Amino acid sequence: MIRTRFAPSPTGYLHIGGARTALYSWLYTRRHGGRFVLRIEDTDRERSTPEAVNAILEGMVWLGLDYDEGPFYQTERYERYREHLQRLLEEGQAYRCYCTRERLDRVRAEQQARKEKPRYDGRCRDLSAPPSDEVSDEPVVRFRTPLEGHVVVDDAIRGKVQFHNSELDDLIIARGDGTPTYNFTVVVDDLEMGVTDVIRGDDHLNNTPRQIHLYAALGVEPPRFAHVPMILGEDGKRLSKRHGAVSVLQYREEGYLPEALLNYLVRLGWSHGDQEVFTIDELVQLFDIDDVNHSASTFNPSKLLWLNQQHIMHAEPAHIARHLAPFLSARDVDPTEGPALEAVVRAQQERAKTLVEMAEASLFFYRRPAAYDEKAAKKNLTSESAGILEHCAHRFSGLPSWTGEEIHAVVTGAAETFDVKMGKVAQPLRVAVTGSTVSPPIDVTLELLGRDETVARVEAAAAWAQRPESQSPAE
Ligand code: GLU
Repeated sequence: MIRTRFAPSPTGYLHIGGARTALYSWLYTRRHGGRFVLRIEDTDRERSTPEAVNAILEGMVWLGLDYDEGPFYQTERYERYREHLQRLLEEGQAYRCYCTRERLDRVRAEQQARKEKPRYDGRCRDLSAPPSDEVSDEPVVRFRTPLEGHVVVDDAIRGKVQFHNSELDDLIIARGDGTPTYNFTVVVDDLEMGVTDVIRGDDHLNNTPRQIHLYAALGVEPPRFAHVPMILGEDGKRLSKRHGAVSVLQYREEGYLPEALLNYLVRLGWSHGDQEVFTIDELVQLFDIDDVNHSASTFNPSKLLWLNQQHIMHAEPAHIARHLAPFLSARDVDPTEGPALEAVVRAQQERAKTLVEMAEASLFFYRRPAAYDEKAAKKNLTSESAGILEHCAHRFSGLPSWTGEEIHAVVTGAAETFDVKMGKVAQPLRVAVTGSTVSPPIDVTLELLGRDETVARVEAAAAWAQRPESQSPAE
């Protein structure tokens, strides 16, 4: 059975590169009916924070990338690493290195002076007892890397990549204080967690030959590897904060739907014909890791925005309503007091690129506009339109029932009565109820708002339009 893992280091927010790696592992696992493990690589005590762990967990939940096992924390697994370390030492596959920092620095400087690639010179590799001079009292543990031959990474995305063993140092697998290092913990974890497929960023490709040697030393077959190419900003540099939002949770705050972000991320490096919009179910059916492109891709915020709009347009209103509600609450609106949120979503679905936009444009359904937009009021709430508004308010009050059709009939009737175009009725009404000139069609808007609220707002606007100041705003 396929088992994959996502293994972030909690040293910052969950960024979109990490999210894409997680998504690829998740999709691959779901496609093949395997299990997806979450492992928090928190051994860097100085840089790991509980806030970052929470941001990762929250990001995963928001994205809907559910894991079947974990989260496992590396800091809770030191005993496991110690056991394997001990075994490698006993078998002579690893050795204690007593070299002091000063000695290593000196060796390095000499190598550089000779224009050689700096590497550990192997002084402690074959010692039977600690050396007599330049001895560190906190020896590290090094892995005995084969000196000759080569190792091939058969990567699902990159194809075969060959590394010469002569280029690999005797890697430090435990520091002087006994704590294990990244390459070692990752191998122990992946083997103990039964990971069959390691899908990760290609910044780790150079670690892979070392890890393959460690698997061999521990007597197990390595997993399959897939190194996902990096994401670049529009200037061709590795994507970073300089390029704008890179944190997953920031996209949530900016009103993106998780499925839109996932859709965007999957397409950075993977395609299916010329299809752009995918549901998560479709992706689970279609995605395969072997189809991931091996070249880097460029992050394009306007395409992400476009995809968000597509997903907003086509999603179930109830689903959007669930994601929209927090944006209204954050603006002190209780969406249970007023028109049903799902109905508001239905009216707004075609008109918003983000949930923030949708929330802003929907506030008027739940509370009276604090003020009329100046330009809109100047043009539409005039002494001339006051009469039209009064007429409409009166007719609205007398309607036998409050339906879009009847509202529409009042609006067209008023246009006829006053011998004006429809817009001369609809626009003042719109400004009256929303404060601005943008809203869904006027009949839909007013039906949702309800009769009492509509009449009250239209009457208030008619009165406002007739204020003496409104005729001469300069006074
Ligand atoms: N913890 C590593 C990182 O955040 C990932 C290690 C791996 O996937 O092997 O970059």
